[in-house]
Amino acid sequence: MTTTARVLDGLAVAGQIKAELRERVDAFTRAQGRPPGLGIVLVGDDPASEIYVRNKLKSAAESGLRADVYRLSAAAPLEAVLGVVKDLNASDAHDGILVQSPLPDGLGRQAEQVVFDALDPAKDVDGFHPENVGRLVQKRPFLVACTPLGVMELLDRSAIRLDGARAVVIGRSDIVGKPVALLLMHRNATVTICHSRTADLAQVCASADILVAALGRPAFVTADFVKPGATVIDVGINRVSDSALVERLYAEGSQRRADFVRRGSLVVGDVHPAVAGVAGALTPVPGGVGPLTIALLLSNTVKAAEARCSRSR
Ligand code: NAP
Repeated sequence: MTTTARVLDGLAVAGQIKAELRERVDAFTRAQGRPPGLGIVLVGDDPASEIYVRNKLKSAAESGLRADVYRLSAAAPLEAVLGVVKDLNASDAHDGILVQSPLPDGLGRQAEQVVFDALDPAKDVDGFHPENVGRLVQKRPFLVACTPLGVMELLDRSAIRLDGARAVVIGRSDIVGKPVALLLMHRNATVTICHSRTADLAQVCASADILVAALGRPAFVTADFVKPGATVIDVGINRVSDSALVERLYAEGSQRRADFVRRGSLVVGDVHPAVAGVAGALTPVPGGVGPLTIALLLSNTVKAAEARCSRSR
């Protein structure tokens, strides 16, 4: 399949956002005598979470923010996690708090909700607290979930028209599907949200000018889901170790195949590579939405820091 789609370069856009933030971070640090601070709560030893947290620490340091990790063992009780959140809520040095998801199963099914509800909404840089979700629904957002915000930045900075566009979002999670659908609707797109019970999914998707895939199924969105010329945003991050699947997706001799052989696994999006032959614009995986999530986390932390300081003036 010939590649025709314009590649929406998330790394480049994330770089622009971080460069713009630098000025605000420096101004804040000069005025307050301390940098904006982020507290990260990491419970358990999930290897993917370790990598995500390491990347967040690195990016925060590069952007001049302070970031501290508070680690708890997988056996820690919920009260211990809530205790750390309480301390961070009260901390003067921390403007943002992030509780790395997923929490260990042993904490119980409702644990994430209980912990997110306990965050000070003014420090909830993931945008998961019900107050921040409610503000987004009412179109008076304060802190909004980072991945959906990143999708919007990518669309805006790539000059993709939203007003009047037909948008389809596959996925209705609280962290991606629902907030990205709301953000698109608030920008005057006409939005359809799809999920695992949606009938005629491919047909619904093929009506979209903007298709956002956030379902967590490797290469699920094939070319027949995509209207020629549509913008396709691939949010999926799926680690694949099935060599048969990789061989079906990527041509022999391709860089992706070589990466798979070298590493024994590959991160694959929700969108099939053949979509590049149909879409007008497409985000790569990796290098699309992923880097924006971290950039928007830093941006939310700076926003929370500025808001806290202007309130305390
Ligand atoms: P999630 O909570 O598992 O939600 C998945 C959604 O997709 C659900 O609404 C589900 O429908 C729907 N779905 C699943 N299978 C489907 C199918 N066959 N047809 C139609 N809909 C289907 O996942 P998530 O947390 O939103 O994450 C989605 C993907 O984005 C994952 O790959 C995740 O790793 C990735 N992600 C990436 C970033 C980033 O920084 N780039 C950030 C967050 C997440 P039901 O509601 O009916 O079950």
